[in-house]
Amino acid sequence: MRSAHEICAHSLIEDRVPAAGRYEPVRNPADRGQVVGHVALAEPDVVDLAVAAALRAAPGWGRRTANERADFLRTAAKLLEADDDARARLLTREHGKVIWESRLDIAGAATILRYYAEFADRLDAEVDHVNKLGTARIRRRPVGVTAVVVPWNYPVYLAFLMLVPALLAGNPVVVKPSEVVPLALTDVLTTLAEALPPGVVTVVQGEGATVGARLTAHPDVRAVLFTGSTATGRSIIAGSAGTVKRLGLELGGNDPAIVLDTAVVDDTMAHELVRGVYTSSGQVCYNVKRIYVHQDRYDELVEAFTAAAGQLVVGDGLSPDSHIGPVTTPAQRRKVQSLVTAARADGASVVEAGKVATGTCWDRGLFVRPTIVTGVSPDARLVQEEQFGPAVPILPFATDDEAVRMANDTEYGLAASVWSADADHADAVARRIEAGSVFVNAHRLGCSDLAMPFGGVKQSGLGRRHGYEAVEECTDLQTIAHITSPAALPGPART
Ligand code: NAD
Repeated sequence: MRSAHEICAHSLIEDRVPAAGRYEPVRNPADRGQVVGHVALAEPDVVDLAVAAALRAAPGWGRRTANERADFLRTAAKLLEADDDARARLLTREHGKVIWESRLDIAGAATILRYYAEFADRLDAEVDHVNKLGTARIRRRPVGVTAVVVPWNYPVYLAFLMLVPALLAGNPVVVKPSEVVPLALTDVLTTLAEALPPGVVTVVQGEGATVGARLTAHPDVRAVLFTGSTATGRSIIAGSAGTVKRLGLELGGNDPAIVLDTAVVDDTMAHELVRGVYTSSGQVCYNVKRIYVHQDRYDELVEAFTAAAGQLVVGDGLSPDSHIGPVTTPAQRRKVQSLVTAARADGASVVEAGKVATGTCWDRGLFVRPTIVTGVSPDARLVQEEQFGPAVPILPFATDDEAVRMANDTEYGLAASVWSADADHADAVARRIEAGSVFVNAHRLGCSDLAMPFGGVKQSGLGRRHGYEAVEECTDLQTIAHITSPAALPGPART
C-alpha cells in the first residue's frame, strides 16, 4: 500500500503508468472535506494502448492449459491475502460502507480466485464425439480480449466475479474501474497484474462516457463483461453491435419482497427484512427495494419493521458503532431524497428512523437515515424506479395474484424474495416471479453464494455470474472433426 498522501488510481499497462489527462480528488462520503486520494482520468486513447497490450498477451495466455492459469490465480490469491485490512479501510474511506462490508468486498478477490482455480480440470477436459464419420473433438477456447467495466458499489468483489472466470478461460482482460470508487480496486488490480504475465491484466481509468464507451466499442475487444446500471447497459449493447461482441451484463434491479399471509411476522423476521433493505445504505444491486405485505399482516409488519429500523445506527463506516454508512455520491443522495419528497407530496407517510453514531459529522457527510414510506401509490416513482438508497416503500396486497402482478410490474428482474412459514406456499409464489433469483425468508448480501447462478431477466441483464456457467460464458465452443470415413457422408459415393 502507498501512504495516504500518495494514493492515486492510475491506469496500468504492462509495467507502465500512461500519462493521465486530469487528476480528480476522491472524497470521503462520511466527510466530504477529506480527500482520500486521486484518480488519474485518462484520455480515451489510453484504451488503444491497453487493448494493444492485451492483444500481445493473448496468444501466450490462451495457449496455456487452464491448470497452468489456475496456478497463477492461486499465487495471486496468496499475495492478495497479505494486505487485506489496509485495503478495507481505504475502501471504507472512499466508498462510505461499514468496515465489515469492506473486508468482505476486499476478501472476495482471493476467495473468487481460489474458487475458480478449482474448475481448471473441467475446462481442460475435451469431449470426444464418435460417429460414423470419425471422431469430433469438442473443446472450449478463449473468446479474446475481454473488457471488464466495474460499478462503484462493490468494486472489488464485482470486478473479480467478472474478471476471474475470463482469466481462467484464457482471455486477457482490460479493466475499467468506476471513476467514483477507484482506489482500493486499483491497488488490488496492481497486485493481481504483477502476479500474471505482462498484459494479461491491464487497467484504464477514466470516465464512462469517454474511456468506458471507447473500450466497450473497441474493434479488438471480443467480449464485454459489465456490471452497472441498465441505462449504461443499453448504451454498451448499442456501442458493441457494430463488432458483434459477446456480452455479459449485470444491470439494475428493483427487487420486491412479498410477505405472504402465511408469514411469521416477529422481531427476528423484521430485523432480517431490515438488513435486506438497508445493508450498504441500500446500495446493493439485490437489496430489497419494495415491500408488498398481505393486508392481514400489514399493520404488524410496518410496526415491527419500523421498530427494527429504529435500532440501526448511521455513521462513519470506520466507527465500530455504525450499522450503515453514508450513501456514496451526492447524486445518489439527491436521487433518494427526491423520490421520497415526491412520494410525500403525493400524500405518503414518511418515517426517518435510526440513530446517529457518536462523533459523526452529519452535515459534512452524505448521510441518509433509514426511511420508511407508507400510504404510497404503486405507480409512485419510489416504487417504480431503482432508488439505490436507504428508503423503502411498503404496500399492502389482498391476494397472491395481486402481489405477483405488482412484483412483476417493472422492467427489472434481478432478484426477489417471498416470506412465509409455509415452504410450499412460498415456492408456488416464487415460481411466478420474473427474477433471476428468488430467496425465501431472507434477501440480502450472501444469499446467492458463488455456486448459485446469479443474473437478471428482462432489463436486469444478460448471462449469469457465479459457478462454472460464468467460465463457459467466457469461452467459445470449438469442434474439430476428424473425418476418417468420408464415404459415410450424404450424397452419391463419387461425382
Ligand atoms: P453505472 O452504469 O453508472 O457505471 C458503471 C460503470 O460503467 C462505471 O465504471 C462507469 O464509468 C461505466 N460507464 C458509464 N457510462 C458508460 C458508457 N457509456 N460506456 C461504457 N462504460 C460506461 O453504474 P454505477 O452507478 O457505477 O452502479 C450502480 C448500478 O449498478 C445500479 O443500477 C445497480 O443496480 C447496478 N448493479 C448491478 C449489479 C448486478 O449484479 N446486476 C451489481 C452491482 C450494481
